[in-house]
Amino acid sequence: MSYRRNSLLIHGGIDGDETTGAVNVPVYQTSTYKQDGLGKNRGWEYSRTGNPTRAALEKLIADLEEGQYGLAFASGLAAINTVLSLFKAGDKLIVSDNIYGGTFRILDNVFKNFNITYKIVDTSDLEAVENAIDEDVKAIYIETPANPLLTITDIEAVSAIGKKHNKLVIVDNTFLTPYLQRPLTLGADIVIHSGTKYLGGHSDTISGFVVVNDKQLADRLYYLQNAIGGVLAPWDSFLIIRGIKTLSVRMDRHVANAQKVAEWLAESGYVSKVYYPGLKTDPGYEIQKKQADGAGAMISFVLDEKYDYRVFFEKLQLITLAESLGGVESLVCHPATMTHAAIPADIRKEVGIVDELIRLSVGIEDVDDLISDLKQAIGNSVKA
Ligand SMILES: *Cc1c(COP(=O)(O)O)cnc(C)c1O
Repeated sequence: MSYRRNSLLIHGGIDGDETTGAVNVPVYQTSTYKQDGLGKNRGWEYSRTGNPTRAALEKLIADLEEGQYGLAFASGLAAINTVLSLFKAGDKLIVSDNIYGGTFRILDNVFKNFNITYKIVDTSDLEAVENAIDEDVKAIYIETPANPLLTITDIEAVSAIGKKHNKLVIVDNTFLTPYLQRPLTLGADIVIHSGTKYLGGHSDTISGFVVVNDKQLADRLYYLQNAIGGVLAPWDSFLIIRGIKTLSVRMDRHVANAQKVAEWLAESGYVSKVYYPGLKTDPGYEIQKKQADGAGAMISFVLDEKYDYRVFFEKLQLITLAESLGGVESLVCHPATMTHAAIPADIRKEVGIVDELIRLSVGIEDVDDLISDLKQAIGNSVKA
């Protein structure tokens, strides 16, 4: 029987344990496996290569993304590292002009040293994407909504451009999760996640994922996963499986809270700019609505110049100043000095990551408490 999404979250992948009937996949905390004779194993040899707890999660994430092959990594960046290792010296990637700071860092300061280079493009502008393509470009790497400005890129349209020119299309789907957006069904070739965020959901573990449909691509990625070795440990695999079981109820509340907070901010008179693709006034609103089942729960905003953002961060009581996002608790961060500090100041400014920009990961607390906290913190941060 094929399950609908809400059931898949709980029963997708490998459901429980065949041997004992345990309703949860056991934590196979082992590095190696007894072989019954030379060349005779029971499907498992060594836990970098494969582990049953990780395998259950890898099948689950593939099911959720409606893909064929899933791979789990020790972090989102370990996943990104492995995907970038598909490329060779001389290859070039087109990347969205606002992306996760760590993705920029590994491109700019690691892979560039191996002559795998990148071109920064506003991928919400399809003509700009098309124009940036040349022979050396081997892939288009997008985030949508992008971090931190929540810019929306049309996945289907970019995938069509990729197909036409025979370039891979890679989508970082961290901000929406497969509960809200499934890029492979829109034509993308590779989906990446930081599972540290909504998939885990409780700010208690680091993980990353890759999902693909193509068998050849999957084989190469499994090869690289084993060769590079940044795999997810059994216990962390268990934690992410546990987190995914409640993804639907968490995301529904995250999105509902974020919509209310964004609407409140936009009307409040406290801010000069709100970035949230769930607002009808947002330039990405229509495409977002077409390609996803919700706008997510990340909001960025710029306080009116009357207020001092440094003081604002100190006055918050319920909302925590911290890196990361996607946990049940609301977190706020300052992209220019925290998540996006790896991006040079001139590039930051050019794309709109100004010093006054504040990024909010809306949690699942009572939304009225969140709004009260924002209100008092902004009210108490008037410049002298
Ligand atoms: C956090 C994040 C990453 C990196 O993931 P880690 O698990 O921190 O290594 C990549 N992309 C996006 C969009 C992220 O938010």
